[in-house]
Amino acid sequence: MKIVFATNNEHKLDEITKISRGKLEILSLSDINCHEEIPETGDTLKENALIKAKYVKDKFGLDCFADDTGLEVDALNNAPGIYSSRYAGPNCDPEDNMQKLLQDLHGLKNRKAQFRTVIALILNGKEHYFEGVVKGEIIHQKKGSNGFGYDPIFKPIGYDKTFGELPEEIKNSLSHRAIATQKLVDFLLKQKTEG
Ligand code: IMP
Repeated sequence: MKIVFATNNEHKLDEITKISRGKLEILSLSDINCHEEIPETGDTLKENALIKAKYVKDKFGLDCFADDTGLEVDALNNAPGIYSSRYAGPNCDPEDNMQKLLQDLHGLKNRKAQFRTVIALILNGKEHYFEGVVKGEIIHQKKGSNGFGYDPIFKPIGYDKTFGELPEEIKNSLSHRAIATQKLVDFLLKQKTEG
């Protein structure tokens, strides 16, 4: 089964290859010569994931899946959500985003947050969705330098270390993206055996 993953992110491609133990043939955007930036104009993670998957289906006629992830902070009405990568402004970096978030939470007791990933799959003309959530809290100061994005300030429930401090294998075994990806892989492998 050949399917396109609407990404060129090596880490994400590597993760799905490991989770599917090489049993699925996944093509990246560069594998199909799609070099344009696909605009994410939706209002929700689900819409953004579907926009990316549909873009590939419409333009290349190939079955495709795409993901979108956001950090949802309880006390901020689930912000930054779909704006996670550009929370501090259009040309900001992860450091700016973390500083803005710490500032916005300054003095607030409720530090609950979750990472949420939604994967949209278009297979044989039908849409399917897979979600992964990891709950935790935003700590007061950055700790650790592993991972990326908001990892140094996010501590998952049940752990006394942030994603920035936890070894990569541990984060990858419990992350929002790993949960959603595992659900997608289980679904695709089932289709493969049934088909
Ligand atoms: P994307 O949809 O995977 O591109 O993720 C959007 C944004 O969410 C990223 O630019 C990061 O700011 C944030 N993000 C997503 N996944 C993670 C993670 O595992 N750790 C920390 N930040 C993340």
